[in-house]
Amino acid sequence: MERFDPELVFFEPEALQYPLGEKLHAHFTELGTPIRMTTSHNRVTGIPGETETEQYRNAKRTLVVGIRKTLTFDTSKPSAEYAIPLTTGCAGHCHYCYLQTTMSNKPYVRIYVNLAEILEKAEAYIDERKPEITRFEAACTGDPVSLEHLTGALGEYIAFMAKQEYGRLRFVTKFANVDSLLDVDHGGRTRIRFSINSDYVIRYFEPGTSSFEERIEAAGRVAEAGYPLGFIIAPIVKYDGWQEGYWHLLEKLHERLHGVEVQDLTFELIQHRFTKTAKNTILKRYPKTKLNMDEEERQLKWGRYGKFKYVYKAETVEEFQQLFEQAIHEYFPRAEIAYFV
Ligand code: SF4
Repeated sequence: MERFDPELVFFEPEALQYPLGEKLHAHFTELGTPIRMTTSHNRVTGIPGETETEQYRNAKRTLVVGIRKTLTFDTSKPSAEYAIPLTTGCAGHCHYCYLQTTMSNKPYVRIYVNLAEILEKAEAYIDERKPEITRFEAACTGDPVSLEHLTGALGEYIAFMAKQEYGRLRFVTKFANVDSLLDVDHGGRTRIRFSINSDYVIRYFEPGTSSFEERIEAAGRVAEAGYPLGFIIAPIVKYDGWQEGYWHLLEKLHERLHGVEVQDLTFELIQHRFTKTAKNTILKRYPKTKLNMDEEERQLKWGRYGKFKYVYKAETVEEFQQLFEQAIHEYFPRAEIAYFV
């Protein structure tokens, strides 16, 4: 796994008034990482690079340490009530990543250091809804596990949620950087989901993230630590040998989790889809991608964000569904397939 160690760091001045901001400043000073100040993440300038593509790559190696000013959380339906802020952006280079279109002009990685204020607000949301359970998703705008070695923030959120009778935390990751979370007292109130795929998809379309083996091993460790566990198999991609690739994935997960008591395991299955805009961006950023986005092999579907997207044709979707239902039933008969979209 490639650990995220930024090559350039910006600090918003207020961030230095918080213990985590101070700690990060000392850390990067000691490492000799170039540090600059910025009045706001919106004013970050001077990321090196001759071309837009070079600037994009360098921005993904740039960290902005700031505070989260808006403490009104976005909703995150249907899997959670709220998106809890923690990080925005990601150093990974998944070709199909949703951030390509949602954050295309600000690809740098941001972390927030006013954790106590964010958690105070989360508690207020929980109080408002109790005795209903309030679920918070921590990975709506990036992959927080990829930064955990720098911040320890996820560990704090997990420990906080363990004390909340009516609160639950969940997040999804493509990173195996989970060791510091294993000893946190989670109280069974945080579900860790791994975004996982066939070895081929991870190898060719997910550079800068943890490998197939690393993710499976990390999932095993998380399950052994008693966390509720889930897998998001996404995006499901059709390529030569996809049947063997995905069957092998389920077989390997089974091998690693064999003999581990896993409570209420869930699978979420999402086929690959793209919009015209996303396709153009992907081809610009990753011109050599092997990701097949031939419209002829897809059908159009009206998307929830008011745009048409290309999904696989019905017969392919049926083949996907059959294979996953069969493999999950064979290897994890008690697991739930939460959805296939
Ligand atoms: S790990 Fe997730 S957030 Fe990061 S680039 Fe890949 S898909 Fe995007």
